[in-house]
Amino acid sequence: MRSEAARSAQAAELFLARFGAAPDGVWLAPGRANLMGEHTDYNDGFVLPFALSQGTTAAAGYRPDRRLVLCSRQEPGREVELALDDLAPGQVTGWAAYPAGIAWALSAAGYQVPGACIAIDSDLPAGAGLSSSAALECATALALLALLALPAPSPIPRPALAAIAQRAENEFVGVPSGIMDQSASLLGQAGHALLLDCRSLETAQVPFDPAAADARLMLVNTRAKHELSDGEYGQRRAECEQAARLLGVPSLRSVTDVRELDRLADPVLRRRARHIVADNQRVLEVVGLLRSASGAGGSGAGAYRDIGRLLTAAHLSLRDDFEVSWAEADAAVDAALAAGALGARMMGGGFGGSVLALVPRRAGGQIREAVAETFGRHAWTAPEFLDAVPSASARRLALQLGSPGSQGGTPCRYETKPRRSRARLPSCGTRSTASPRSAWTCPRPKPRCWRRWTVCRSRSAPGRGSAR
Ligand code: ADP
Ligand code: MG
Repeated sequence: MRSEAARSAQAAELFLARFGAAPDGVWLAPGRANLMGEHTDYNDGFVLPFALSQGTTAAAGYRPDRRLVLCSRQEPGREVELALDDLAPGQVTGWAAYPAGIAWALSAAGYQVPGACIAIDSDLPAGAGLSSSAALECATALALLALLALPAPSPIPRPALAAIAQRAENEFVGVPSGIMDQSASLLGQAGHALLLDCRSLETAQVPFDPAAADARLMLVNTRAKHELSDGEYGQRRAECEQAARLLGVPSLRSVTDVRELDRLADPVLRRRARHIVADNQRVLEVVGLLRSASGAGGSGAGAYRDIGRLLTAAHLSLRDDFEVSWAEADAAVDAALAAGALGARMMGGGFGGSVLALVPRRAGGQIREAVAETFGRHAWTAPEFLDAVPSASARRLALQLGSPGSQGGTPCRYETKPRRSRARLPSCGTRSTASPRSAWTCPRPKPRCWRRWTVCRSRSAPGRGSAR
């Protein structure tokens, strides 16, 4: 795993290479895994996600012209420039809709979003069910808030920011997702899972430290994405709503005893509802086990074995009752269990994405081999393995302007003699107005480039936004 300093330096380098100046700052937002509670969110139920150590950085710099310029290392050649005042849902397509949607949703919430250049980088696989989209949104949101033309009177509470990011994804990008992903990215804590009640939106931090029980969490990106997914997702939502209607409850969250489901005549609706009711119960059981593991004097190994069993039970429920699993996920779960995993399940909405496995610390290698071998036998694309460590939420990173020798050929331009009258020294956007005589290019970057740039910047008084 890369250190924060390395991530910050890499993000700043990307910004420099594209925009010809150092960024005002670098913000990091994590992706997430979900320990338990799948399809429970839109049934007003419980979910138990945690923030990952993998995430997305946004290196950002203020520009005075109310334009948003976005580039991403993962989308080469797809840079986008937008006028902030023209942003409207449906108008931006592709990857840039996520950060543009954040600018739109923040403006709609009353924030005076400034023009900015933003360079995105990530070590999260996109589309693998690890919430790269929420990480992109949350990193952008923190960056834009810190660059605000007028500082907000008080920092925006993280739950409110999660709701703004969800609005960006729902209304601007057009993806009908719940609030779990943004909540995990903005509220996660290292060594904790986040219990989120999707009815009240209350959250609680639950101690979650598999390493203390000599266990670890492994993610298997199955690299599968099936065309079915959108339609099937909508159908499952409709089936759950219909089951709740027939049972006379506002949502399936209100059902706590599976025997109540005998009143549903349709066996398909009964199975769908059974998954939701059982998964809500499994979330609460896992929370109880985690709390007992952290409170007990011992390692909590017994609790983690029980959590493993619940993970596998959830997989069977998603496969057989909710019918959203896919062949690669089933094979990965079976192979992991046969090779010694404590438990494993598909994660996310289904029909593609990742599997989460809880494994004894020393069995990680053999489980990876077993899963990879199974994929090879089926001639499927090789899976990708990631460690899932409950980590901290989105934050600003200390700005690393690179170390000598790390800039490998990156052009470095800056003003040698900034005019006193300028409120800000060259930053993205202001630099293009600099006269050719006051800016110069250093084709082979030397450490002094950074030093002098830093000196220039330290004389400027940003006076905008607040450090978040
Ligand atoms: P997930 O959130 O599970 O990774 P989604 O389909 O919700 O999958 O979001 C993936 C999309 O988010 C990508 O197709 C892309 O449009 C956007 N995205 C995510 N990360 C990046 C990134 N680093 N750079 C550019 N776009 C990104
Ligand atoms: Mg997503």
